[in-house]
Amino acid sequence: MSFIPPRCPYPSCPEHSGRDPRFWLRFGSYRPRCRRFAIPRFRCRTCGRTFSRQTFRHDYRDRRPECNVRLFWLLASGVGLRQAARQLGLDVHSVQRKFRKIARTCRWLHRNLSPSLPAGRTYVLDEEETYEKASIRPLTMPVLIELVSYFVVATMAGPIRRLARPGLRRRWLQECDEARRGPRRDRSKVCVRATLGALRRRVGDGSLCLLSDDKASYRALGREVFGASLWHETTSSQLVRDTFNPLFPINLTLAMTRDNCGRLRRQSWLVTEKRRCLQLHLHIFTAYRNYVRRRHNSDGRDDTPAVLLGLLPRRLRVREVLGWRQDWGVWSSHPTSRSARRAVA
Ligand SMILES: [Zn+2]
Repeated sequence: MSFIPPRCPYPSCPEHSGRDPRFWLRFGSYRPRCRRFAIPRFRCRTCGRTFSRQTFRHDYRDRRPECNVRLFWLLASGVGLRQAARQLGLDVHSVQRKFRKIARTCRWLHRNLSPSLPAGRTYVLDEEETYEKASIRPLTMPVLIELVSYFVVATMAGPIRRLARPGLRRRWLQECDEARRGPRRDRSKVCVRATLGALRRRVGDGSLCLLSDDKASYRALGREVFGASLWHETTSSQLVRDTFNPLFPINLTLAMTRDNCGRLRRQSWLVTEKRRCLQLHLHIFTAYRNYVRRRHNSDGRDDTPAVLLGLLPRRLRVREVLGWRQDWGVWSSHPTSRSARRAVA
């Protein structure tokens, strides 16, 4: 038998921390319809509940687990959910469910693999504008990366209020929309603060440099979140956006989000219906960018942003990203572990 359960999968059980390696008993096996081989079952000697190897996997309870890796690639390649459903021969609703589940696993994976980041480095922040459902409902999407490795630290998506000039048809449409739904909230500052907060949690009290354009609120929010440990450098947003621009790494990353997430592509039929779904898609992009794709095409095969930052020894394969369940935080198995025994340090 190759699989040995590292811990009881139920968080309420004392054996969830994996204190006794002999906490389990064999409890037969079952043969799922989607697999050719039987899956062994186990029983916890402490809480008496049963589980199997599948309980530790991302594709636990999936009916079509063989589609997950292909769907990840489609979602990280700018394909919309409906087109992905057509290609995989699945119903669009099951693709939507799989999309949400993959995104949640990617969010946990990123959290578990980057609990702390090195201080003393330069991090770059910028915002991208997009919209939900209709262009009169704009969204902001702050993205924060590390300057050298291009590691995506945090992304957010939130509503913003940008009223057109009075008298324009766009303004009239916005007023009709607000009369129906109430005034549109502007959460730009909240989103940027949360993005910087995600970096603060990872860096702690260490000093760092933040690079951004000259938007006034960035300076105040940076000081609010980091205090005196922050060195803030700004670059004029009027500067030509070429490779010599100091903000080139973040401009390239934002261009990649538009290329890899179909819903962000300009002049396209694909559109975000709900901002929650944009946030979910950004989790998939973050996992793909940090752990699967190398930094530049000219870099070595394994030189992903996470490897360059010293978080992982090699790049992850997509089947490893969607391998072990990650929603147990520090008790989750490491994606590169074959036996599920090694927890995230
Ligand atoms: Zn148990």
